[in-house]
Amino acid sequence: MNMRAENFYAVWRERCRAVNGLRDGDSVPPEKLLQAVWQHQRILRGGLKTADGRSVRVLHPGFISVEGGPDFRGAVLQFENEKPISGDVEIDLQPSGWHAHGHDKNPSFKNVVLHVVWEEVQSPRSKAQSPPVVLPLKKILDAPIAELELALENESGLPEKLRGKCSAPLRELSEPQLTELLQAAVKVRFQNKANAILARAKNCGWEQVLWENLFRALGYKNNIWPMQNLAETKSRWSRGANSAFEIQARLLGVSGLLPDDLTRAQKCSDTFLRRAWDFWWRDRDEFETCTLPRAVWKFHGLRPANNPQRRLALAAHWLASGNLISKIEDWCAAEIPDKKLLASLHEIFQVERDEFWSWHWTFKSARMIKPQPLLGEARVTDLAVNVVLPWLWIRAREGGNEKLQREIERRFFAWPVAEDNSVLKLARQRLLGTSSARVLKGAAQQQGLMQIVRDFCEHSNAICADCRFPELVQCLKSKTQS
Ligand code: SF4
Repeated sequence: MNMRAENFYAVWRERCRAVNGLRDGDSVPPEKLLQAVWQHQRILRGGLKTADGRSVRVLHPGFISVEGGPDFRGAVLQFENEKPISGDVEIDLQPSGWHAHGHDKNPSFKNVVLHVVWEEVQSPRSKAQSPPVVLPLKKILDAPIAELELALENESGLPEKLRGKCSAPLRELSEPQLTELLQAAVKVRFQNKANAILARAKNCGWEQVLWENLFRALGYKNNIWPMQNLAETKSRWSRGANSAFEIQARLLGVSGLLPDDLTRAQKCSDTFLRRAWDFWWRDRDEFETCTLPRAVWKFHGLRPANNPQRRLALAAHWLASGNLISKIEDWCAAEIPDKKLLASLHEIFQVERDEFWSWHWTFKSARMIKPQPLLGEARVTDLAVNVVLPWLWIRAREGGNEKLQREIERRFFAWPVAEDNSVLKLARQRLLGTSSARVLKGAAQQQGLMQIVRDFCEHSNAICADCRFPELVQCLKSKTQS
């Protein structure tokens, strides 16, 4: 094929794009394009100067953030001849965006070390309005912006050159070697979890530790601690509350999440709130010392399905059923084929319809047309691999029941993949060199990869400084070759 001949497809594509595309000098590119330019470092990287005249070297542009906050996390930059620093990078069209978008007051932006903008506009910046350092892109692109737009529009994922130092040796491993490595990592993770459960069980008993871990799992990463606190005081606030609704009213009260005011917009919500207050106003003095301030809860960035009030309703149903733990024990003792593991545990944790929460994401949201389950299969997998299986396994070990331990391990390694998340997405690209989720064959492999991130990536930086994981991979390779 002659690569120099005119390519009709490229010409046609450019013509079509020319109608709406960017032309140099006339328009401001969209922020998404600036992010792609930064991620792929399509800039003249030698001799970069910030707006205040300082030289800067980009040792690593950082990893694009998918969870809000600054656009890039963990960049590594060197200003002048100073020691390289790690920090976040925010991309905006103009320096004024820092103030206009409220970044100056948002604690998530406190680690921003560079504000990358399209151009530095004339208005003088006051110190109060400025992030640490501004880098304008307009005059340092390595190609015209229209060309970059075409070149970067289909680029997704991590550029090859930004992969971790372990990526090349990892890709040289055979599939069984990679499996062995991930299994070794996940065993550490599983045993750590199980040992933490054991340590706590010695103080509070097996049932209580299970409840604490279930509550923590319902808090996800944002609300683990308030959930843990609620579980710790469970013996107090659950006393005398029998129905799921009574327990729910108590839980909403002691959590500090029962709103003081009616919504005045959603009739169903206001009816629910009036009923909940009918219970709580009688109880609240008694439970004052175990009531949490509302401020301990985080709502920012939560998906509606993860709203803690809805999760507390789920916990209330579990508690009201009175037999959740015996059902888990029966599940462990039963013979269950691999294909039915998830569905069979889902059946245990799924609750009958809740008159309010099956129809609402939050107190303020309108009634849904179709009821939504309080717990999806993805969350059941989280409960299985993080709570139920480690709890059953460590109990079996403490009881000297090796056969049961082996069965629980079998279930753990057979568990289907969990829902994808931002840690896994980045780890697949950075370590395994692929964005395909299919490279990981089950929940255990996913957890193994997350353990490697925790053990190595989290102790290093974006340029993999001082990381010894590539050595470990080499050792594994030579060990299996010899
Ligand atoms: S920090 Fe270590 S484990 Fe993480 S990507 Fe770099 S080399 Fe790999």
